[in-house]
Amino acid sequence: MLGLMQDAPINLVSILQHAGRWHGEQEVVTQRVEGGIHRQTYAETLTRATSLAARLRDWGLRPGDRIATMGWNTHRHLECWYAVSGQGAVCHTLNPRLFVEQLNYIINHAGDRMIFVDLSFVDALIGRLDQLPTIEAVVVMTDRANMPVYDTGSVALLCYEDWAADTGASLEWPTLDDNTASSLCYTSGTTGDPKGVLYSHRANLLHAYASCLPDVFNLSARDTILMIVPMFHANSWGLAYAAPMVGAKLVLPGADMSGASVQRLITQESVTKAAGVPTVWNTLLDYLDETDLGLHPLREVVVGGAALPASMISTFRDRYQVGTIHAWGMTEMTPIGTFNRPKAGFDVLDAEGQLHQRLKQGRVPFGVDMKIVDDQDDDVPCDGETFGRLLVKGPWTIDRYYGDDASALAHGWFDTGDIATIDSEGYMQITDRAKDVVKSGGEWISSVAVENAAIGVPGVALAACIGASHPKWGERPLLLVQCRDGQSVAESDLQKALSASLAKWQLPDAVVFVDEIPLTAAGKIDKKPLRERYSSYLTSGQ
Ligand code: ADP
Repeated sequence: MLGLMQDAPINLVSILQHAGRWHGEQEVVTQRVEGGIHRQTYAETLTRATSLAARLRDWGLRPGDRIATMGWNTHRHLECWYAVSGQGAVCHTLNPRLFVEQLNYIINHAGDRMIFVDLSFVDALIGRLDQLPTIEAVVVMTDRANMPVYDTGSVALLCYEDWAADTGASLEWPTLDDNTASSLCYTSGTTGDPKGVLYSHRANLLHAYASCLPDVFNLSARDTILMIVPMFHANSWGLAYAAPMVGAKLVLPGADMSGASVQRLITQESVTKAAGVPTVWNTLLDYLDETDLGLHPLREVVVGGAALPASMISTFRDRYQVGTIHAWGMTEMTPIGTFNRPKAGFDVLDAEGQLHQRLKQGRVPFGVDMKIVDDQDDDVPCDGETFGRLLVKGPWTIDRYYGDDASALAHGWFDTGDIATIDSEGYMQITDRAKDVVKSGGEWISSVAVENAAIGVPGVALAACIGASHPKWGERPLLLVQCRDGQSVAESDLQKALSASLAKWQLPDAVVFVDEIPLTAAGKIDKKPLRERYSSYLTSGQ
């Protein structure tokens, strides 16, 4: 027997329609790529997205077409998301920090027909249009006054504000099957070619509902959210849907994620919540340290994408009265996997117990299931000590990669590539990436544990632990350290700090101070070049 409720199909544009109608005066604030601050309401955002959608329809957009964006977090980029997906086409976010060869591969693999591009990237893009045969049009996300001039041959070159915005055109949004593809995002491809994750309207909508839950982002119409996490990486953690869903004010930093810019936006726009990777917060904390400025009225920052260091929790809390919430996820999970909000009973823990708990990556919301398994794929106990490969499933977890025939799952579960423990209360803690774990004799050493111990030492900017070849043990940990600008660190201080939190056999065999630790396009430590350069350090001494 079927229920007798309305069969209201899901189209993500309904989120913006809701915000435009019921939170119409709420603001979307953008730090413009051209300079200065731009303000518009959700009602105006809906009008402009509708106008853009009508232009795309008239241009010949077909359901399922891939339309790329290469842009910062701005109101125009937000409009593209809704205008493209809302018509049953696929909004393909490109990460401009990727290498040119990877970007070309991704655009050609997706077969993108059009690219919306910010001024920061237009020059490089136009220069290699001849390598992108599927592109028919380039739309520069700017106004006429800032529009550059290029000869693009047969590829149309359009100015966003002239072409798309405020034409007053109306349009009937189509009814879509819930599982229609909405957007496409490629993983950074730190190993092998980048792989496309094709989100659906259904996955994004369920994910947006879950994002707003009190034990997840805890969002409401009373919040102002600074969305630092880029729209071009991991679906901006779903915030571009969750914020308008509840009518929260949305603050978009554009191209400037410097400490000065982030601090200014927080205080001037009365930001209550912000989300980003640890690198962004380190930059902000360094800036605050130099300037003595504050963060009022910010209440909490959500930190994910890489492990949250203990020192960051205490600095935010003790100096700025800001809470830090640790979160874990991945592109393949739209991306939310776990959030660390305390359960009842947390308050009775002593300070050390609370810190220990906060450093974990957290619990799953409804919509994600997880388990840990050993090398034989057998479940291992959730005792907070035994670690295993972390497997996940749920309606916003990937089934298969774009263009692949084979499923990405084994027995219905997706292998995250992370190694983790889960405790009896359901708190998951990442101990390492499977490929980063140091295999020393029969034991595994967590590179993250070594890095976390090192990063707390004053003067250390970045720390990376890799497995270096060793004649007896196979691999032993080698620690690479980048000091903060103008500072140095005594190796004895480092060894002392490491010995305080690591067992003797887990201590690195050597520490190498380097000028710069390379970062990936997502702002995470890139261990691939470090392994190439240093994996024989312990045998050759260089
Ligand atoms: P990419 O693979 O392109 O870096 P993702 O953002 O999808 O892009 O990366 C997901 C991976 O990032 C996770 O599998 C995990 O290894 C790591 N990660 C994400 N959040 C955390 C966290 N809070 N702590 C430790 N690692 C994390």
